[in-house]
Formats: sequence, C-alpha cells, structure tokens
Amino acid sequence: MTFHDARPSESIWLRALRDVTRCIVPVECAGCGAVDIPLCQPCAALWWEPVLRCEEAAPRLMVEDTALMPVWAAAVLTGPVHEWVAAWKDGGRRDLDRMAAQTMRRVALESGLRADAVVPVPSRPGAYRRRGADLTRITAAAAADACGVPLVSALAIGRGESRGKSARERWRGAGSALKVRRAVSGEVVLVDDVLTTGATLAACASALGEKGVKVRGALVLAAA
Ligand SMILES: [Zn+2]
Repeated sequence: MTFHDARPSESIWLRALRDVTRCIVPVECAGCGAVDIPLCQPCAALWWEPVLRCEEAAPRLMVEDTALMPVWAAAVLTGPVHEWVAAWKDGGRRDLDRMAAQTMRRVALESGLRADAVVPVPSRPGAYRRRGADLTRITAAAAADACGVPLVSALAIGRGESRGKSARERWRGAGSALKVRRAVSGEVVLVDDVLTTGATLAACASALGEKGVKVRGALVLAAA
C-alpha cells in the first residue's frame, strides 16, 4: 500500500475525530460567535459582495499618489469579516479553509487579472507549525487553479533574521529578510490573506522586481 492509498481512511478518522470534538466543543459562528453554526447567514453575506479594488487605502503601496500595483479583495476587513479572518488564521478553524479557497477563487476570476504564475506571500517562520497548514498557500493554490496558471512558492522569509524582534520590527524588516528562493519567469500575481498597510506586498514586489519579475497585481481575501 502506498502512502496515497492510506490517505482516504486517514481522513475518515480525522473527520470522525473532528465530529467528536465538535460535540465536546460547540461550534460557533466565525463572524459573530452565534452558537451551533460555523458561519451564520448575515456574517456569510458580508463575503458575497462583488470584489473590490483596495490598493488606494494601503499607505505603504502608494508612491507619489500612484499605487505600486492594483489589489482586489472580497470583503472589507471589519467587524464579522475581521473575526472570521482571526478565527481562520489563529483560531484553529481549519473548517474555514474551503471557504477561504472558494472566496479567493472568486476574487481571482472577478478581478480579471492575468499573469504567468501565482506567487503566495510567504508565511512567517513558525506560522505553519502553529496553524497546522500554510493558509496563504491554500488560497494561492485556488487562485492559480482559477486562472489556469502555475502556483510558484517563489518567496521565503529568512529564518533567524526575525528572531528576538517585535512583530512591528519583523514587518519593517520583512523586505530585507524576504528571499526569492525559486525562479519564476514572466509576470506574476501575488496572493495574501489580508491587505492592511501594504508593506508586505510592497516588500514582495521589491524582492521579485530585483530578479526581473513583474508583479501585475495582488489578490487578498479582505482589505482594511
Ligand atoms: Zn455570525
């Protein structure tokens, strides 16, 4: 039996374990905390609006009133949307992975953005271990699939360089710690979870630009 053969039964057991866990820890709405429902209708509806352009609200993306790149988002990062993102990223809500992927697929299609590859914004060291999944890669894979282009994990954040620094210092230093670890040719689309200041996307575009890779734009789930 190969490793792949073993996976379906493994997932059945994991699913059973999750169902049992749900009986002990009651499920609640990722947006508003309403009990017995993973996501209530009003909170879900906030994700159904047409995708929006959001780069002009990100100060670090603006250079002399011109954005470094266009950015599309599915929702505004506020209230229940903010809570949903927190539950997905740091609340252990792996059941929201599928919705995150579907939402990013919609952002990719509605943006009309075309490029040669999709590049996920790299997670910081330790994030994968803490969350049990590379969340940005999950959504980036959905975007790549929707656009029919390859997913290339071209960027990485250097381990060790951020050690001992505050979160703010890590963000500020992200540019210097970002490395292009895999060759990617042509023009790319960046995918991240959320857009706030735009510093991360700017750092990614800069690192790729130094290797001659042009960033056509970025896709995020939600924007502040
Ligand atoms: Zn709700």
